[in-house]
Amino acid sequence: MTFGNPSGVFEDALQRLDAAFEYADIEREPLERLKHPKAMIQVAIPVRRDDGSLSIFEGYRVHHDDTRGPTKGGIRFHPEVDLDEVKALALWMTLKCAVVNIPYGGAKGGVTVNPKELSRLELERLSRGFVQQMADFIGPDTDIPAPDVYTNAMIMGWMMGEYSKIHRRHTPDSFTGKPIPLGGSLGRDDATGRGAYYCVKQLEAKRGWNPRDITVAVQGFGNGGQAVAKLLHADGYRVVAVSDSRGGIYNPDGFDVPSLIQHKNDTRTLAAVYCQGSVCEMVESENVTNEQLLALDVDILIPAALGGVIRSANVDAVKAEVIVEVANGPVSSHADEKLNQRGTFIIPDILANAGGVTVSYFEWVQNRQGFYWELDEIHQRLQQIMAREFNHIHDLAAAKQIDMRTAAYAHALGRLGGAIQAQGTQRYFSNGGKE
Ligand code: NAD
Repeated sequence: MTFGNPSGVFEDALQRLDAAFEYADIEREPLERLKHPKAMIQVAIPVRRDDGSLSIFEGYRVHHDDTRGPTKGGIRFHPEVDLDEVKALALWMTLKCAVVNIPYGGAKGGVTVNPKELSRLELERLSRGFVQQMADFIGPDTDIPAPDVYTNAMIMGWMMGEYSKIHRRHTPDSFTGKPIPLGGSLGRDDATGRGAYYCVKQLEAKRGWNPRDITVAVQGFGNGGQAVAKLLHADGYRVVAVSDSRGGIYNPDGFDVPSLIQHKNDTRTLAAVYCQGSVCEMVESENVTNEQLLALDVDILIPAALGGVIRSANVDAVKAEVIVEVANGPVSSHADEKLNQRGTFIIPDILANAGGVTVSYFEWVQNRQGFYWELDEIHQRLQQIMAREFNHIHDLAAAKQIDMRTAAYAHALGRLGGAIQAQGTQRYFSNGGKE
């Protein structure tokens, strides 16, 4: 059976897997296994609207591979969610968990909905409805969801509550990214951006950068984008442009990022402001579209919104020397080729945004232990993992003369291949059980 668009984003992801295979020291059988998601479910979620009418939303969950552990991956609420995209995102989760060496496989879920059109009560009904339909497909020992685009800690809390109600026991380990009073982990809120920041710090050390000389543009000013912008700004990097779904702001002197975050959180709008206490004043800036932001002459470009934003049509306009992929799949494979030819250094999504799933793993471990860690311990463990894997991938890329993405895929394939091969492949079985 064919699911989704065969020439879409999942196919694109498979091509990258094929390209990395020749640099991974594994047999072909694991590669073939990884091309087929393990299980997929599509559900209809009926939601009673506040005016008494009924809306029905499509929901998806894909388990890509669980050889290294229970599957793990976010749930996205977005009008453009479809099964093809969810399959690609689930595959990336398998690779990402292998890149940072946490004992999980990959999964992803989504609902085709514009959550901005729902009231808070409708959003709660949709979130609980998703769990009612998925209750046998997810679980703390099988598949553990987390937040993604337009889902947040409160939604995870509702979902965990619904799952616990259905199973008639307290299950804080069934979802991660929960509010802290409901079993969430310290440090989960900024973990995705922080993981990307730790990668940039490794690059800074290798290149001898002075942060004050380095300009940064961030597309997408949500969970991931805000956190990485805030940490880089605190270290002296000049964050000269940020955007959200409605467009962006640009100032070559750089913005005071905490003020932008405060204003965005208070008003849900992005504006060029400088705040002292609760008083915010407008500062100089130029309005830019999301397309213009991608083409700014900056040192570091951080796409932190949706996939496929850098593609054949606009790749020639991209000037940044370094791209840090906080979003999943922001660069199409065609654009990737062009950027590689040009020598653009890309920290790929499966490494750059792996901080989120890493601290989700810490949250799950704490929930299962019933023992909670201090924030310092979480930052320290995350930093160690991100630095270790960044350097491993950087060294592999240098040794094999390949780009960072191919090296990251090859690194992940090595770990996945090792696990799959440990269960036996043709080489083992066709030899009568003797190696
Ligand atoms: P979010 O919902 O918190 O923020 C998304 C941001 O993108 C918002 O500022 C929104 O306005 C903006 N946006 C939406 N459509 C846009 C468009 N067309 N152009 C420009 N901006 C647009 O989401 P998030 O959790 O920060 O996720 C962002 C990206 O990071 C996604 O690709 C997600 O898969 C990836 N990611 C997130 C996590 C996590 O833990 N949150 C982990 C790994 C990867």
